[in-house]
Amino acid sequence: MKLKIAIVGAGISGLTAGILLKKLGHDVSIFEKSSSISEYGAGINLSRNATILLERSGLLEGLKDISQYPSRSIIRNYKGSKEIASKDLKGLITCDRRELVKFLSNTFIDQEGDLHLSNEVYEVNASTGELSFKNKKKEKADLVLACDGIKSLAKVNNFKEIEAKFSGYVAWRGIVDIENLPNLKKLKDINIYYGPGAHVVHYPIGQKGKINFIAIQSSPDWLGESWRTQGKKEDLLEEFKDWDKDILRLFSNCSKVYKWGIFDRKQLKRLVDSKLVLMGDAAHPMVPFMGQGACMSIEDAYIFSRLLEDHPENLNKVLDGYQKLRLKRVSWMQKRSRIQGKFNHVSNPLIAKIRNLATRSLISRNIEGIHSYDADLELSKL
Ligand SMILES: Cc1cc2nc3c(=O)[nH]c(=O)nc-3n(C[C@H](O)[C@H](O)[C@H](O)COP(=O)(O)OP(=O)(O)OC[C@H]3O[C@@H](n4cnc5c(N)ncnc54)[C@H](O)[C@@H]3O)c2cc1C
Repeated sequence: MKLKIAIVGAGISGLTAGILLKKLGHDVSIFEKSSSISEYGAGINLSRNATILLERSGLLEGLKDISQYPSRSIIRNYKGSKEIASKDLKGLITCDRRELVKFLSNTFIDQEGDLHLSNEVYEVNASTGELSFKNKKKEKADLVLACDGIKSLAKVNNFKEIEAKFSGYVAWRGIVDIENLPNLKKLKDINIYYGPGAHVVHYPIGQKGKINFIAIQSSPDWLGESWRTQGKKEDLLEEFKDWDKDILRLFSNCSKVYKWGIFDRKQLKRLVDSKLVLMGDAAHPMVPFMGQGACMSIEDAYIFSRLLEDHPENLNKVLDGYQKLRLKRVSWMQKRSRIQGKFNHVSNPLIAKIRNLATRSLISRNIEGIHSYDADLELSKL
């Protein structure tokens, strides 16, 4: 059965779902409020649980030229960069988000998918599948996928929990040329530095010798939530002045730094309401301590499309199966990410020592537990 599927939002979740559903032969339209497909300049890592699905969907090959393949994740101390623990990585890629989203949108367009820019949806009728647009247009679909991020329009449907709140974390990010960083340790790896009330992550992105960094601090202050707000480098250097000089050199060599508040939301108890299905950050935003938000979006899109492929005549089975499999996985990941935030930012030196010992003994199990998730295996158990 060929379905008319409307997707709200052309981020990583909407575009991935669009590509996979279009491949199955459905009539797919993506409606995006922005006038162009644009992402902020920042890095993203996709771990094996997501890349294995991209590979099975024939998409990983196309990312080869824009990806780096760090083979190790190293946790270090914020002073002296001494290694606390490390773990070999398999199947993880890092890239510039702008290049990832460009690849996904080009792939969708090459498949003759309909991508409608400057089309802000303001309401979806979950029972009828009718979408109302800011520009007064209306559309009707058999299924509507809300892939519209943390402040999803699904809040006007039956998802009252959708109220984004400041999480108590502020993040800084920047991109630096590798040639300006002669002393920075292990530039090819993912490096995570634990310090009191903060942590820093850096890894390589793209093919042009760039290093992406993210520095996250615990902070009581509320900040406007935008990826595009420019921060002051002097403030960043001041906030982290006690940290290792290689990290300060990394910050100093960045031409622009951005600063923003990280938001979170209550967990949802369901992801489906009649014809409306939530995916990606609309369904399960998470604080970014496990680097799994986009990976979860790819898992969502893959599982949904596989269910539709296996049960084309039984939409109820598709929707029930999606909700059952995804709620279990993403609820756990949301909780796990919050716990990791507290773990990373321990301030008391004695507790930090215990944390480091625990990190050393648990790192393999923790990373494997997340990266070895196989969506196809979970589908086979349904
Ligand atoms: C600091 C930080 C680092 C991160 N690092 C990683 C990482 O390394 N790995 C990882 O897996 N995840 C990471 N994440 C999480 C990841 O960025 C998100 O989970 C992911 O981008 C969510 O994608 P999405 O498509 O669901 O939502 P979004 O990217 O928010 O896209 C939503 C889209 O919908 C559009 N839209 C919104 N409302 C409407 C409307 N009413 N009508 C039409 N269009 C609309 C928006 O314009 C946007 O294009 C990180 C997050 C943060 C904050």
